[in-house]
Amino acid sequence: MPIQSVQAIILRKDDFRDTSFLLNCYTDRLGKIKGIIKGVKGYPFKYGSPLEIMTLNALVVYERHRSDLGLIGQVDLMDDFGGVRRDPKKTAFGAYFVEIVDRFTAFGDPHPDIFHLLRNALRALRETQRYVFLTHVFEVRLLKSLGILPHVNRCGGCMGYDVEPVTFDVAKGNVYCHTCSSPVYNGIATTRHACSGIQAITDGAMEGDFSVALLERLYERSGENRDAVRMIRRFIDYHLDFPLKSIPVIRQFYREGVET
Ligand SMILES: [Zn+2]
Repeated sequence: MPIQSVQAIILRKDDFRDTSFLLNCYTDRLGKIKGIIKGVKGYPFKYGSPLEIMTLNALVVYERHRSDLGLIGQVDLMDDFGGVRRDPKKTAFGAYFVEIVDRFTAFGDPHPDIFHLLRNALRALRETQRYVFLTHVFEVRLLKSLGILPHVNRCGGCMGYDVEPVTFDVAKGNVYCHTCSSPVYNGIATTRHACSGIQAITDGAMEGDFSVALLERLYERSGENRDAVRMIRRFIDYHLDFPLKSIPVIRQFYREGVET
């Protein structure tokens, strides 16, 4: 039974039998893991962590042969991203971040960049109220890490780099110029600005710039950047086999006029 010490963000927590929990965690070195933690119900202070989703913990995991289910032997809270949980809007967006990572990643496929991306996004959520653009930057970088970011720098038909993109195909993740647009069934309108905006977010280090300056820059040109936000949201929705639980709560905040 190999023993691993990892840093882990809890993505999902389910009851298991009478006294235990099953946790899905995204770790720095092992990627996504599923672990059972025994005998904790009714003993909230047995470990130095509330074992809640959206917390960063140091875990000791006992990996078991012929099983994807590890045994978690020790949990120490490193960061609860304080303030996120006390604000219903921040909680809603944080719940979306961990749910989408859980849904789009597989067990046994380590991506340290996704761990850092999620941790940095939760830290940024603590500091900012630009929820829509923080979420957009997070989504674009996550899709890039997963290797499924739409191709927005050239037309998917004629493969031209210098043509004006007018349609985005949410099924294929391609943009099309005016000449190539007619056969696109799952198309929504796009612009050169939206495409170059998405491209710009992925430039540079994947460690992720969630700085106030970047989010303010996107916010200042909200009108133009809204097309890019819509393209990525529609692309993600299209590629989910069933909807995320956290999405209706976020949509409600959008309707109530959440600050973008
Ligand atoms: Zn074309």
